[in-house]
Amino acid sequence: MKQDIVIIGAGVIGLATAEKLLSQGARVTLIERNEIGLESSWAGGGILSPLCPWDYSDDVNRLSRYSAQLFPQWASKLYKTSGIDPEYLVSGIRILSFVDKKTIEGWLLQYPTKIQYLTASHTDIHLNKKHIPSNHRDQENNSSILMPDIAQVRNPRLLKSLHMSVLRLGGKIIKNCAVNQINIRNHNVSSLTTAQGQIFADYYVVSAGAWSKALLGSYALGIDIKPIKGQMLLFKFNEPPITNILIKNDVYMIPRQDGHLLVGSTIEDVGFNKEITITARNSLMKKACEILPLLDKMPIIKQWAGLRPATKKNSPYIGRHSALSNLFMNAGHFRYGILMAPASAEILANEITNHAQKIDINPYQPGSISQTELQ
Ligand SMILES: Cc1cc2nc3c(=O)[nH]c(=O)nc-3n(C[C@H](O)[C@H](O)[C@H](O)COP(=O)(O)OP(=O)(O)OC[C@H]3O[C@@H](n4cnc5c(N)ncnc54)[C@H](O)[C@@H]3O)c2cc1C
Repeated sequence: MKQDIVIIGAGVIGLATAEKLLSQGARVTLIERNEIGLESSWAGGGILSPLCPWDYSDDVNRLSRYSAQLFPQWASKLYKTSGIDPEYLVSGIRILSFVDKKTIEGWLLQYPTKIQYLTASHTDIHLNKKHIPSNHRDQENNSSILMPDIAQVRNPRLLKSLHMSVLRLGGKIIKNCAVNQINIRNHNVSSLTTAQGQIFADYYVVSAGAWSKALLGSYALGIDIKPIKGQMLLFKFNEPPITNILIKNDVYMIPRQDGHLLVGSTIEDVGFNKEITITARNSLMKKACEILPLLDKMPIIKQWAGLRPATKKNSPYIGRHSALSNLFMNAGHFRYGILMAPASAEILANEITNHAQKIDINPYQPGSISQTELQ
């Protein structure tokens, strides 16, 4: 395959797509408005599962599970190619909120997964006992569950590893170069107008995250992507204070191997606004201290925000644009873009090269257009 492919946006999705296409022999150029991998993909937590998967649609579960299966091999391939370890780690997820056993059992029939309903003794094994007050452990014993096989990845490292892999595979990266317009002729993209002039290719991929709809302009058609802000807090311990990722209601904490602990995240519908706020900081802090009271005495070493690319249907658009035959979409991964990256890249590469798909991809096809939208 020798055709030129230009990918717009170097977040995890654009980089993963580039890496996949380059591995198949394509000539790929990535165009990024800012620095590589510093938007939503950097801001994320790197949990490789929807938080409580039984609360999500089949479209999210199907793609998530397929991608989670690909992840370990993908991460080690990236490590080998780039020399940078993305720190893929099976750390398990513990859910401390009340969960309806019947709902979970129903979900398990469709999506077999290792799950443990924890007793008091289990609880002590999976939490570092000295950090969790006993009344908290006792309260939670009846409703706490563990999914031991769920993994995490250190997303800033994954991005560096992907960036280096793309370069080592011969990809071209043009950074600090915004694509300002997609030029159309005869139902095809003829070129891109960028901050550094016109760029031409055989195929084009939009992976511009939360900005994808704005970039498509009147050709967004059924593609409905908007930013949803998420804020996170970072702490640093000498050793990880917990072993599993913990979730309680709308707050989670992710222990990294070197003692960093991430607490997230807010869900804010405030447009393209990435400001961090005291309100979010206080609210995350309060909820986090209910789970791990010793956080109260720990300094917050960093707070940040990112813009998740959300869609109305709550699953991404992956595939050929419905009106422009040489334009492809890989965008709208909302809360699961890190997780879904390897599968989304594979699906898109198969679409461009006309190869069979391993899962049903119909739900992810960019929406069909109505005549009204075209006028
Ligand atoms: C707080 C938070 C926590 C999260 N936690 C998780 C998690 O635990 N697990 C998980 O799987 N996912 C998580 N996510 C979601 C995940 O981060 C996103 O789904 C994913 O990063 C989307 O990747 P992307 O490449 O589509 O977007 P982005 O990373 O935003 O990349 C898009 C890129 O396109 C560039 N761009 C935009 N417009 C243009 C243009 N006109 N020209 C050139 N370049 C352009 C941008 O500069 C940007 O670099 C989280 C997100 C947030 C914010």
